[in-house]
Amino acid sequence: MDYQEIIDRIYREVQPLTAQGKVADYIPALSSVDRNNLGISVHHIKGEKYGVGQVNIPFSIQSISKVFSFTLAYEAVGEAIWERLGKEPSGTAFNSLVQIEYEHGIPRNPFINAGALVVADIILSNYRYPWREFLDFVRNISNDDTINSNEEVARSEKETGHRNAALAHLMYGFKNIKNPVEEVLDFYFMQCAIEMCAESLSRSFLFLANHGVVPYSGEALLSLSQAKRLNALMLMAGLYNESGDFAYKVGLPGKSGVGGGIVAVFPKNLSICVWSPAINEYGNSVAGIEALKRFTSYTEMSVF
Ligand code: GLN
Repeated sequence: MDYQEIIDRIYREVQPLTAQGKVADYIPALSSVDRNNLGISVHHIKGEKYGVGQVNIPFSIQSISKVFSFTLAYEAVGEAIWERLGKEPSGTAFNSLVQIEYEHGIPRNPFINAGALVVADIILSNYRYPWREFLDFVRNISNDDTINSNEEVARSEKETGHRNAALAHLMYGFKNIKNPVEEVLDFYFMQCAIEMCAESLSRSFLFLANHGVVPYSGEALLSLSQAKRLNALMLMAGLYNESGDFAYKVGLPGKSGVGGGIVAVFPKNLSICVWSPAINEYGNSVAGIEALKRFTSYTEMSVF
């Protein structure tokens, strides 16, 4: 299969779609990103990589970071994580408050904001140097030592992140957040403000395409069954209340962020990241979804 030719074609075809949707501006520091950016990066577990467009420009990974934080928390506490989190699709927006009240502070899954806040709380309780170890983990799995969090973006979200603050306080009230709310929010905003390029993001998801093992280092991050479970969670919830539509159109587990990145994996084969900053009403990249849909159509890849 000529992946380079396929992604070159997709790049040309979806470029007009970068004019649709809206660059996220509810986090003020994100609003200045150029919507014309478009990059597609593919890594095969055997080592080949392919890229087209802006694959080396770092962007705000936002909710894609929830896959990394969940992996670290899952490594620390194993299946006990499910005492504090569900594994069901939410059917609600990523920042919704309603479910958390009537489901007594237990988030539906780790990828909605409420779930990621619980995951951040678990990391704070289980690691000695939580932020340092988290950042090292992300750098390690993406083989990119230049990765950092953008403190201006984190601060900007902290100033406007009242829904996240409300979620954290509500869950503290239900005793499902155990560390001081401020600390949990700071960790969460910092993880969301991590900046990575499409190439590093695609590389960082290779362990999920390779049964939990980083292919180029041989390091086992998760067991085979844990990696499969994480992929199942992404398929159900990685794109929030558009996850069903994404599974229908794309047929791969994936995770999006409001910075316009989407990463998807085809188990036992490859990972792919598309970045295009303008997002739809669900918070998912418009051109990104279309590019991935075309990728799985042209390559006939799908977990189904
Ligand atoms: N930091 C963002 C928020 O909490 C992440 C949302 C997202 O990428 N979907 O609102």
